[in-house]
Amino acid sequence: MIDNNIRDIVKTFKAYVPGKSKEEIARNYGINPNDIIKLGSNENPWGCSPKIKDEILKEIPKIHQYPEPINPTLMEELSKFTGAPMENIIVGGDGADEVIDATMRILIDKDDEVIIPIPTFTQYRISALIYGAKIKYAKFDKENDFKLDVDSVLNNITNKTKIIFLCSPNNPTGNIIDKKNIEKIINSTDALVVIDHAYIEYSKKEYDLTDWALKYDNVLVLRTFSKVFGLAGQRIGYGITNKKLVDYMMRVKPIFSLTRLSQICAITALRDKEFFNKSKNDGIRSREILYEGLKKFKELKVYPSEANYILVEVKNGMSSGEFCEELLKRGVIIRDCKSFEGLDGEYVRIAIGTFKEDRRFLEILKDIVE
Ligand SMILES: *Cc1c(COP(=O)(O)O)cnc(C)c1O
Repeated sequence: MIDNNIRDIVKTFKAYVPGKSKEEIARNYGINPNDIIKLGSNENPWGCSPKIKDEILKEIPKIHQYPEPINPTLMEELSKFTGAPMENIIVGGDGADEVIDATMRILIDKDDEVIIPIPTFTQYRISALIYGAKIKYAKFDKENDFKLDVDSVLNNITNKTKIIFLCSPNNPTGNIIDKKNIEKIINSTDALVVIDHAYIEYSKKEYDLTDWALKYDNVLVLRTFSKVFGLAGQRIGYGITNKKLVDYMMRVKPIFSLTRLSQICAITALRDKEFFNKSKNDGIRSREILYEGLKKFKELKVYPSEANYILVEVKNGMSSGEFCEELLKRGVIIRDCKSFEGLDGEYVRIAIGTFKEDRRFLEILKDIVE
């Protein structure tokens, strides 16, 4: 039986359950898809740069030809955008997820250790397990507004530690990790410290540690086009780290994963400063509107956020599942956080919408909470 040959670790995996789509909710609840508000997946509610459509059409006649594995125009634009030299940047064609995977491919032998403070982005764990890594959990401390418990990281470092994931702003809690603590961790180990900055554009400038990827030789900073650039569906992410690591990762990542269309999308997005600035500023404004609106409900504990989503603890007697279900019936999709390891309470994550969606969502919420 072929099944006997399947790796044990693979057999323990369950199929990934993605966030609910508008189409699914429309079908199940008999709601017009245009009336559905999707605040579940931290996407950009304003979409992507309007210039992208024409640029894609221009590229289509070339899609029978393989893409260049490294597109010099894209590298130049990314270099300008991040301030890092091109040789220090690696772009992934399955988003930042591909860069996470590449770090595992070059660093993890069976039984090597990966430190993950939880609750956090689940992709780190999934990716690490595939490569046979042992996961050592550290924690974002629930009793202390989910601040990183830096000792829980430091105490887990051994000579088998290969990668430490630090998500800042952290998904799903929304808070940043203190600079001093990140520095302490970097200086305590030779392991690769991955600083995940997927949401950094929504944070205060002083929290942006992208240049640390050049300052230390064991730091990789992750960034993405999925959030502020509104290109989640096109799957483009990148990492900034020392040249040697970029070189190794380029040897093992899927060669042509960054498609011609993805390259065009990324270049156009980087050149459209107007859309970028508006997307960032309106995103922050939307978060503020939601934060102020949510705080008015005394049955909700609302956590401050430096990202494009807000963590909320539901205290009106409903489980997080029931709370999400009530919203679904009314056409609003948010994220139930019970699947995040390290979050056993009643937590939900609410992403920014357009200003109109924010207002409607807050109205609908009155129905449920009050
Ligand atoms: C969305 C997200 C990413 C980026 O994912 P992509 O694969 O680029 O879409 C990375 N890290 C965190 C914490 C995220 O939430």
